[in-house]
Amino acid sequence: MKSVAELQAAGFALNVTGLDAVGDKYAIGITPAVAALIDPNDPNDPMARQFVPRVEELTTTPEERDDPIGDLAHSPVEGIVHRYPDRVLLKAVHVCPVYCRFCFRREMVGPQGLGTLTPAELDAAIAYIAEHEEIWEVILTGGDPLVLSPRRLRDLMERLAPIEHVKIVRFHTRVPVVEPERVDDAMVSALRASGKTTYLAVHANHPREFTAAAKTAFARLVEGGVALVSQSVLLAGVNDDFDTLAALMRGFVENRIKPYYLHHPDLAPGTGHFRVSVERGQELVAQLRGRLSGLCQPTYVLDIPGGHGKSPLAVSMAQLADQGHLVADWQGNVHQYPPKTPNSEQ
Ligand code: SF4
Repeated sequence: MKSVAELQAAGFALNVTGLDAVGDKYAIGITPAVAALIDPNDPNDPMARQFVPRVEELTTTPEERDDPIGDLAHSPVEGIVHRYPDRVLLKAVHVCPVYCRFCFRREMVGPQGLGTLTPAELDAAIAYIAEHEEIWEVILTGGDPLVLSPRRLRDLMERLAPIEHVKIVRFHTRVPVVEPERVDDAMVSALRASGKTTYLAVHANHPREFTAAAKTAFARLVEGGVALVSQSVLLAGVNDDFDTLAALMRGFVENRIKPYYLHHPDLAPGTGHFRVSVERGQELVAQLRGRLSGLCQPTYVLDIPGGHGKSPLAVSMAQLADQGHLVADWQGNVHQYPPKTPNSEQ
């Protein structure tokens, strides 16, 4: 489903004035796998909130911006974002199987977005990576790179394979969750290349996204030699409570996906209804730290607006003291480190 009319025809309760204007402004996309997870009559259903358009998207606030994480400030050639010394983003496509209502690149993705790199642009992007020996990792993002066919993914990997200094290729994708049937043996094998280690960052925000088909896709990737990490966005009304967030992180780990990033929501236009305060995010990750296995801990990060990169937001458990540090344990009790000795207490 790619329009308000198609959603209405499918029985989604969307009799809200102004929704056509949302569809004119931002791409809409809901796959059958996602539609099956949505309660069509409840706009506050956490799956509906993520994918079904709302009139609130027409309200932009002064701090919101078209390029909230500052990709354009660090783009030396089309399709490349070189923000940190040792890694680049390679944005080969700007289409996705679904369009998340909170997307941080919503001004760039979709049918009216930046499109797919032309062959000449892709040549220039690969040449840039080859010329910059400090690039250890290439992160394929977009858009969703797994909308590309296995043939095109293999072609991309074969072009990266001879570049000696690139050791890691990471894909950022929602496909294993929102279109799991795409993850077949041909795709998994296309993601691997000789001399490179492939990581895939699975984007999921609610434990209901771990369907049987998604779990099959995760298993196929892991067993095909692809290492999995997670990425989620902390979203009001979707996962901003301990129980949901805990089930999400445990769900990742149970599926052999190491929790990696929990993003503070970016200042993308028309996304104020998803925003959670930094204090609430800090409180939630402190609760995760206190109550869940170390395997289930994501890094809670903010992409600093303007292209200044990611910074961890969790409150530190350690503070400088007169001698050494004061360190809080998982129950909130504070301890001196190093511990005082009998001599130091005299
Ligand atoms: S899959 Fe990623 S890039 Fe695509 S709409 Fe969702 S958040 Fe944006």
